[in-house]
Amino acid sequence: MSKDEFLILYPVCKVVKGARRGMICDLQNLSYHLVPNSLIDIIERMSTIPINQLYEEIDLGQKNILDDYINFIVSKRLGFITPNPESFPLLNSIFEYPSKVSNAIIAIDDHSKHDYNLIFSELSILNCKGLELRFLNSPSQKELFDILTISQNTRIQSIDLVIKSNSFLTTSFFMHLTSRFRRLNYIHVHSAAQDKEIEIEENYSFLRYTSKRVLDHSFCGWISEKNFSPNLTLFSESTQYNNCLNKKISIDEHGKIKNCPSMTKEYGEHGNVSLIEVIDNKDFHELWGITKDQVETCNVCEFRYICIDCRAYRNTKSITSKPSKCAYNPYLAQWENQN
Ligand code: SF4
Ligand code: SF4
Repeated sequence: MSKDEFLILYPVCKVVKGARRGMICDLQNLSYHLVPNSLIDIIERMSTIPINQLYEEIDLGQKNILDDYINFIVSKRLGFITPNPESFPLLNSIFEYPSKVSNAIIAIDDHSKHDYNLIFSELSILNCKGLELRFLNSPSQKELFDILTISQNTRIQSIDLVIKSNSFLTTSFFMHLTSRFRRLNYIHVHSAAQDKEIEIEENYSFLRYTSKRVLDHSFCGWISEKNFSPNLTLFSESTQYNNCLNKKISIDEHGKIKNCPSMTKEYGEHGNVSLIEVIDNKDFHELWGITKDQVETCNVCEFRYICIDCRAYRNTKSITSKPSKCAYNPYLAQWENQN
């Protein structure tokens, strides 16, 4: 190592400090590493101070720790040693999205009277790319085909289904459905006889059966490590906007337009008011700007930029209260009931 070499992280690797420990998020390899906060302090210093100078400044007893830290960063391919750190500018992580809506949820039950032609036409005008069709019931095969057929000539690129199990919604039916409707991405079948997951490789889609029953929207908003998503889009959106509700619009099973179906606040009945009118209502954007850095407890959590927020189910009435379905305590770096 020459005198003036620096250790810097790859631009796609981001550090996040938490109350008790930190994280290095590798946004290219979609992974993260939990690390001591002291390593993050070192990383921040080493981007501006040559490594040799740092060795001179620290106590003899800490040199082995510094060796370990540098080996960790380099061996995990999170960073590299260079004499020219100025040649590696930081990644521009400003979140920009070229339309007013990025994703939507349409909830459906036995009594829903949605005008799907109107819904899909408005979502298309709004340039919505992602859609969740949330069936609280079991639709007939014909109803499912009819809705998905309307979605074909729209700008929607990806559709997730949440659907209640029944005897004719079989795996072979879903395989046929995903080959017929290539926009289908995830299919979550609830109230199933057993839990299982099937990847439908030829159609690039996933089928997940769960025995859990979905009777209403309260299944949404659970926070778990399984749902963390260390990718650049979520990371950058999370630093500037609410990473669940930003650019989301929903119609609940009764036709009410909301930020999400679990919310009590509604913005009129679809048909009487259009999705386009609601999106232009400034009140509707109120929750879009609540970042994880503003949410109590989450603001000191090392997972805050890869963890989907929930503003519908909160610990208290305060709009910046921690999601109530999160069992993680960043002050202890522990999940509840975990020793
Ligand atoms: S705000 Fe909560 S309940 Fe609503 S969609 Fe997001 S995670 Fe689900
Ligand atoms: S404390 Fe907040 S950021 Fe951390 S895991 Fe829970 S909900 Fe996510």
